Amino acid sequence: MVELTDKLTKFLAKKNHNHFINGIYQPSIGDDQIAVINPANEEIIGKVALGQKEDVDRAVAAAKKAFQYNSLWRRMSPDDRGKILYSLAELITDHSETIAQMVTLENGKLLKDSRSSDAGGAANTFRYYAGWTTKIEGETLDLSQPQKGGKQNFAFTRREPIGVVAAIVPWNFPVSIAAWKVAPALAAGCTVVLKPSEETPLSALLLAELAMEAGMPEGVFNVVTGDGRTTGAALTAHPDIKKVTFTGSTYTGKIIGKTAMENVTGVSLELGGKSPAIVFDDPVDFGATANGVAAGIFRNQGQVCVAGSRVYIQKKVFDKVLTDITHVAEKMKISHGFDGTADLGPLVSKGHLAKVCSYIETGKREGASLVSGGQSIKNKGYYLQPTIFSSPDNQQTIIQEEIFGPVLTAIPFDDMEDALQKANDSKMGLAATVWTKNISKAMAMINRLEAGVVYVNSPVRSDPNLPLGGYKQSGIGRELGKVGVYNYTTLKSVNIVF
Ligand code: NAD
Repeated sequence: MVELTDKLTKFLAKKNHNHFINGIYQPSIGDDQIAVINPANEEIIGKVALGQKEDVDRAVAAAKKAFQYNSLWRRMSPDDRGKILYSLAELITDHSETIAQMVTLENGKLLKDSRSSDAGGAANTFRYYAGWTTKIEGETLDLSQPQKGGKQNFAFTRREPIGVVAAIVPWNFPVSIAAWKVAPALAAGCTVVLKPSEETPLSALLLAELAMEAGMPEGVFNVVTGDGRTTGAALTAHPDIKKVTFTGSTYTGKIIGKTAMENVTGVSLELGGKSPAIVFDDPVDFGATANGVAAGIFRNQGQVCVAGSRVYIQKKVFDKVLTDITHVAEKMKISHGFDGTADLGPLVSKGHLAKVCSYIETGKREGASLVSGGQSIKNKGYYLQPTIFSSPDNQQTIIQEEIFGPVLTAIPFDDMEDALQKANDSKMGLAATVWTKNISKAMAMINRLEAGVVYVNSPVRSDPNLPLGGYKQSGIGRELGKVGVYNYTTLKSVNIVF
């Protein structure tokens, strides 16, 4: 059994956690709290404040003050801002075990994934954006028309930080997705109020503590804990928020988009997915393809936005590929996240397990064949077997709707046209993977797939320098890379006439 770090033991001993506003912990205006539950054993790890409108107001006011013209943060050189972000990256690395253990306790995921994806991913993102503070640039422009009276001119654009940013994040990668928003927003010179998911709020508070230790001025990075209906809604509707950057379900994204528009607040929406994995009859390697497709859906218990939850397999190799993937799934060991031999941990919550199980029932009712799994494990904790269906009917609910659990459906296809028609026949368009050794075929698929991210011969992995985002109802805008930092700037066009 892994021993909790001293830092984490001390943090958890507090039991009741407040908001992090203006560089310190501040109690909530109300008494309502949310219990944070360990999905591996259903025990309460701690309680966080359920942020009320007044708490949100306080956090936004602190962020607004920190963004004022001539504030410490605004006066700071890009180089110094970058140094703080770099120090934060180093601190995340120094405390990566504490962060990883915290994420595993509140989310349930395997510790090795918390280490690499959450702690490691967040450190990489802060380190990457530390380098961007000094590279934000406008352009010089030759205007299309001459100046009146034959005068000369000098026209250019500047990129300025947009202002106070509200970052609202889900529970599936609580620290790394927070970093995808907080790091570029701070790199651009904005200030931030982060609202973590009610399922996984504790790791966000640890991140805020480390930000202060890294030298972040007060009020630059604030965390308000709470739910969506009260806390998230108040944050989205706040008139002093200049941009809401949201990652979560398409359902919530639509609500956020409408609310933000009341104040003409900018939004970027990273939403749900129902991503296809397309296996042609000429994969590079059958074993590696089966492992890759299985990793693409079962990693993090399928609770991954880019999870390849529909596998389209060319008819000639359908039985073989499906059998290979099933063998991989059936060998997976299900256990708690601190068990170093586990391949699959619990799902995040009782409610989410029930939702995923109800999709499994819908799949059976609509006539999909259950190839493997499908059972929840009746112990303490929210465990579910990796589940595989097979169906020729692309319109079934389990093929059209995001399940966000370890559930894969295999669908046969005839040729490239058939694969494209079926893969693109979805409201979502986040990601896709293609498995073939034929580069011309892969390029043709890349050109025509309606997806924001396409990987060939690999499950989708994120990288700080590779933009991520969706077509269709999978979102608006892109995160990460250069576009990720420009998300948090606004353009000023200038023309000097002389
Ligand atoms: P969710 O939409 O239920 O919640 C996400 C966040 O929004 C939480 O912090 C929640 O408290 C908040 N929220 C809920 N209602 C709100 C409201 N009315 N106003 C303001 N905030 C509100 O999503 P979830 O269950 O936490 O996460 C899973 C979803 O996230 C999946 O659909 C998944 O595909 C998506 N996701 C997308 C990406 C991506 O990059 N596109 C990445 C990870 C997860």
